[in-house]
Amino acid sequence: MNPSAQSVASEVARADASASLIPAVNKLGTMGLILRGSDDLKKKVLPDIANGKMASYALSEREAGSDAAAMRTRAKADGDDWILNGSKCWITNGGQSSWYTVMAVTDPDQGANGISAFMVHKDDPGFTVGPLEHKLGIKGRPTAELYFENCTIPDDRIIGDEGTGFKTALATLDHTRPTIGAQAVGIAQGALDGALAYVKERSQFGKKIAASEKEAFVELARKDRPLFDKMVAQRSDMMLTTPKLPEAPAPLEKTVSGADDLSDIVTKALA
Ligand SMILES: Cc1cc2nc3c(=O)[nH]c(=O)nc-3n(C[C@H](O)[C@H](O)[C@H](O)COP(=O)(O)OP(=O)(O)OC[C@H]3O[C@@H](n4cnc5c(N)ncnc54)[C@H](O)[C@@H]3O)c2cc1C
Repeated sequence: MNPSAQSVASEVARADASASLIPAVNKLGTMGLILRGSDDLKKKVLPDIANGKMASYALSEREAGSDAAAMRTRAKADGDDWILNGSKCWITNGGQSSWYTVMAVTDPDQGANGISAFMVHKDDPGFTVGPLEHKLGIKGRPTAELYFENCTIPDDRIIGDEGTGFKTALATLDHTRPTIGAQAVGIAQGALDGALAYVKERSQFGKKIAASEKEAFVELARKDRPLFDKMVAQRSDMMLTTPKLPEAPAPLEKTVSGADDLSDIVTKALA
């Protein structure tokens, strides 16, 4: 794990989730090459990325999401070339990236061991980008289908050995999952920053809504003291508005640790 990559993803996501997908997906789109690619292929692709071009990661297909090994996109050797046919789905930065790490079946009898990884360039013949998905969020980054119709690439664009593509795809995800986690933390921090600023600025019924929240906490403490104590134990910034009741016990050692506790709090607080 590279702590600086996590810091970049988190800090950029704090301000803009879509923008954080530029470094995060560049990492996804190049990690297989970095881990398993030949030096010549790295020299061909990586300078483009260093100079501002983008890379995408193309594993998923319409009928092969979680079960990625069920992919149908085929790559067949043809003289000094590979010919790719098929499609990929939900590809982040599709249409904006110059390079695509594409997983395709080279030996259908070998299951996951019959999948190979390739670097495809946006200008390769037979490669096209389909329509964009309409998403609920992260609208600042495209999510597209990719089509390969007799897409022809030189044989040295394979990443590693034939049949190692699925392992390369999974190794890539192992390296990039912490970045996605850091991105989620940054998005949550940005939302909390915005909410805190808003409740201190917005007035309703003649006072800041943060003050109303304080009264709600007093009411909650009266109705359900164990739940109130649980919330205090979180010691988050949100709790800055929590009143210190005279009879409150010393800070609890207990912390809220799981989704069940959090959903319990939310359900009771909204009841
Ligand atoms: C915004 C966005 C961007 C994306 N970007 C990329 C990208 O850049 N590159 C790329 O390759 N892909 C990308 N994807 C695809 C993403 O990786 C897939 O959506 C993911 O792999 C899940 O596949 P699916 O959507 O087909 O869900 P499905 O596999 O159909 O799963 C549906 C539900 O069933 C559950 N499920 C599946 N199998 C099992 C099981 N065996 N046991 C129990 N539960 C199960 C899943 O957890 C899920 O809740 C992107 C998707 C989105 C939404």
